[in-house]
Amino acid sequence: MFYTSTRGHSARQDFAGVLLHGLAEDGGLYMPESWPHLSHADLRGLRGLPYADLAARVIAPFTGDTIPFETLLGFCRDAYAGFHHPATVPLVQLETGLWALELFHGPTLAFKDVAMQLLGRLFDHVLAERGQRITIVGATSGDTGSAAIEACRDRSQLDIVILHPAGRTSEVQRRQMTTVHAPNVANIAVDGNFDDCQDLVKAMFADADFRREMQLAAVNSINWARIAAQIPYYVAAALAVGAPEREVAFSVPTGNFGNVLAAWAARRMGLPVGRLTVASNHNDILTRFLAGNDMSVRTVAPSLSPSMDIGVSSNFERLLFELLGRDPTLTASTMQGFRATGRMEVPHAAWQHARALFHGFRLDDAGTTAEIARLHTECGYLADPHTAIGIAAARAMPCAPLPTIAAATAHPAKFPDAMQLATGSRPALPPHLAHLYESPEKYTRAACDLGEVQAAIRAFASRNH
Ligand SMILES: *Cc1c(COP(=O)(O)O)cnc(C)c1O
Repeated sequence: MFYTSTRGHSARQDFAGVLLHGLAEDGGLYMPESWPHLSHADLRGLRGLPYADLAARVIAPFTGDTIPFETLLGFCRDAYAGFHHPATVPLVQLETGLWALELFHGPTLAFKDVAMQLLGRLFDHVLAERGQRITIVGATSGDTGSAAIEACRDRSQLDIVILHPAGRTSEVQRRQMTTVHAPNVANIAVDGNFDDCQDLVKAMFADADFRREMQLAAVNSINWARIAAQIPYYVAAALAVGAPEREVAFSVPTGNFGNVLAAWAARRMGLPVGRLTVASNHNDILTRFLAGNDMSVRTVAPSLSPSMDIGVSSNFERLLFELLGRDPTLTASTMQGFRATGRMEVPHAAWQHARALFHGFRLDDAGTTAEIARLHTECGYLADPHTAIGIAAARAMPCAPLPTIAAATAHPAKFPDAMQLATGSRPALPPHLAHLYESPEKYTRAACDLGEVQAAIRAFASRNH
């Protein structure tokens, strides 16, 4: 399997190249040159498999010749053995015809673990084969940093450094990063906000000497391997409620459009998905696009569902590429226009196509709180704010006889303030994180200064060589 850039000016890459590079050199995102196909017989053959085994079989066409199947299977089994539920990604029935697909039983209690736990292992494997060592650098305002740290801790071929804005992440989120005591993990608390942290990371990648010296790499949400690793749970969930004999519907709370793109990819590969709903909070660029072909950037306003507080959905470019008939020139010019003007209008036919593929749904904070409370009293279910938006979206759609599955993307204990507001009490952390508030924290404090942060990273990385 080879991958092509959505903008058409980078050399094709195999899976290892896509994994290590993330973003293509022409600024585009990698897409598989062709889509693997899952026939109904293939799908039936996956029914009843342990999740890790199903995942390996669904991902294998994407890894192609880069990773032997038995190796991939071993990584999947290893990655998902660390999940705190025997089904890895259990389905919980909420009412007739409606299920929550719980993706948050991994080490950091958010769905990003499902992909990241596998990615950490894949990175280590590919780097060891190439005799390479890298330093992963990222900025986080919340979930991504801890998922990346848990995925990379104790891996032999990489160091990981995560920048967070000092005093501006929630305590749970900070402690999930700073209480990891592994020799290859460093946290830097930057005196500034999240945008400052992101700017520092961008500046480090733009510094060619530093980039080479440290062998910098990123594990951000546009890495194709993350999307690929999110496809299997849609397959597993659909099979559990009757696919391929029945069509199913998915509802996915969305920020960067990664998770819902994986659902779309499952459908593109042959999973019978009758409806896909994209759910957002008041930062609703995707909903506005679907409603009126208005993809325009607005200021991001904080919400109760912070992991969906985004101004631009970076993975949308992948869908755009498909909507534009895989025309890289048109994709590149559309993206360049979007970057220049903050507004994108796609050709009418492509927009109609998008509307046929996705339903949009938006819920503000008041609606989110009400849905958490309703789920708590009517279904006895604790849904975190992101999950509640996805469930509300599933319920708002025109009644159809489709079994509907809402992606539950975070454990409610990750958002105790929002849960208290809606239900009157704070959910307990699961046992494997009960120590979180007692464990000592370890991090470096730095001014919002490129030289100072680079010096800290250099000092840390040199200790490990
Ligand atoms: C990252 C995240 C999302 C958004 O996922 P995307 O793939 O960016 O659309 C939703 N909910 C939670 C809890 C998250 O951490």
